[in-house]
Amino acid sequence: HVDAPELEVDSVSVAYGDLVAVWDASLELRAGSITALVGRNGAGKTTLISGVCGLLPLRSGSVRLLGEDVTEVPPWGRVPRGMSAVQEGKRVFRDLTVRENLLLGLRGNRVKRAQFDSALAELYDRFPILGERRDQRAADLSGGQQQMLAIGTALASRPKVLLVDEPSSGLAPVFVDVVFECLERLRDEGMAILLVEQLVEEVLGGIADEVIVLERGRVTLRDAAANLSVDDVARGIYSS
Ligand code: ATP
Repeated sequence: HVDAPELEVDSVSVAYGDLVAVWDASLELRAGSITALVGRNGAGKTTLISGVCGLLPLRSGSVRLLGEDVTEVPPWGRVPRGMSAVQEGKRVFRDLTVRENLLLGLRGNRVKRAQFDSALAELYDRFPILGERRDQRAADLSGGQQQMLAIGTALASRPKVLLVDEPSSGLAPVFVDVVFECLERLRDEGMAILLVEQLVEEVLGGIADEVIVLERGRVTLRDAAANLSVDDVARGIYSS
């Protein structure tokens, strides 16, 4: 069905032992849209993303990816089915070159060796700066470029659903803009994106189509970004 969501998260709870960090969270991601997940530190945003991509077990609830129930599928099995995640903090291999980082992403995503060159060319096309700096160590890239490298690595599997945990963290505003433009381009190409983000004004200022507020592990607000003001969202975050 054309209008079916790419990702359906239904009443998901995630716990660390006896500590339940996310309660009954539901969300849907549609093709060609960015959903921003906001909330203060410790609200459970990273925990929810980890549950959705399978890195943490669910205590209850279900996850459907492109119409298929993947609740019992391990994270590495979700990648070839169309889900990819970028963890917080620019997870790149600092001592490897840009090209080596991308190659690891391709191999990790089971891209065939014969397709490496065309896949790399496609990634350099999308991120020209990575092409220019392909033989430099990742450690020598700026923070924004490292974040693009992390996103580029996640794109190697050609995901339909992309989960991105706080790509702006630690970046100067000019680099935040570059990263957001990259996410907007992916959205315009039809990707369904879940973006964890603390910058409420940026979120409402254009990048997000939908906003979900998480507060102490619970979803307290979920609406189209166009219907929300910064105050509404701040109230959702700070009402407790
Ligand atoms: P931040 O913006 O700081 O990353 P967050 O909204 O992503 O915050 P989480 O990191 O998901 O929040 O944390 C949610 C809750 O789960 C917090 O109370 C946190 O202390 C707890 N928590 C997170 N990781 C673990 C862990 N590995 N073991 C036990 N508790 C954890």
